[in-house]
Amino acid sequence: MTVIGLTGGIASGKTTARKMFEELGAYTLDADELSHKTLHQKDVYQKLLEHFGNGILDKDKKIDRKRLGKIVINNKKELKFLESVVHPKIAEMRDAFIENVKKKDKDAVIIYDVPLLYEKKMENMFDTIIVVYVDRKTQIKRIMERNKISEEGAEKRLKLQMDIEEKKKKAQIIIDNRGTLDDTFKQVKNIWDKTIKGG
Ligand code: ATP
Repeated sequence: MTVIGLTGGIASGKTTARKMFEELGAYTLDADELSHKTLHQKDVYQKLLEHFGNGILDKDKKIDRKRLGKIVINNKKELKFLESVVHPKIAEMRDAFIENVKKKDKDAVIIYDVPLLYEKKMENMFDTIIVVYVDRKTQIKRIMERNKISEEGAEKRLKLQMDIEEKKKKAQIIIDNRGTLDDTFKQVKNIWDKTIKGG
């Protein structure tokens, strides 16, 4: 079994590349999705509510990620608390997923999409790491289009993460997602055939 970390910057194309690997036969997992799922778990829900209060709930009494995000975005102490509750749960779900795949397919390739892989120093968890790269200008353009926000807003989001050029330098494998989706698929297919399946 091979476990590959997939990372990049905001809107660099991680999801796009992950889905392409999935089409080729990889088992895939997304850290963001797991983190959203934890908010529905009873013990996480209770701990967060106790700590942050009712203000983090929406009208259906579900945890509102935007409200939670606003509290932790500029408050390191609160972010640390949130991570201390959520991260062990993400790790549990991730390990259960890997164990399950391992049982049914010993030759499986798992692609785990972790946006903050380098920021959280998770390099050692993986057999290899792929960075989905776009230059900063393209990244800003895609954030603005997808999130319908201003250039200033996009810049602000980028500042919260490690520079994508830094990530590119650290990567074992790079997917250049500046071109068309077709260009990206060709690279993904090549990596899958030659590097992953070809040994
Ligand atoms: P995030 O982690 O911020 O959610 P991401 O890295 O998973 O983003 P995607 O969701 O794959 O990135 O792509 C970001 C946006 O850019 C999407 O709107 C997607 O449709 C668009 N996009 C991705 N790749 C390309 C491409 N090669 N050409 C044009 N648009 C693209």
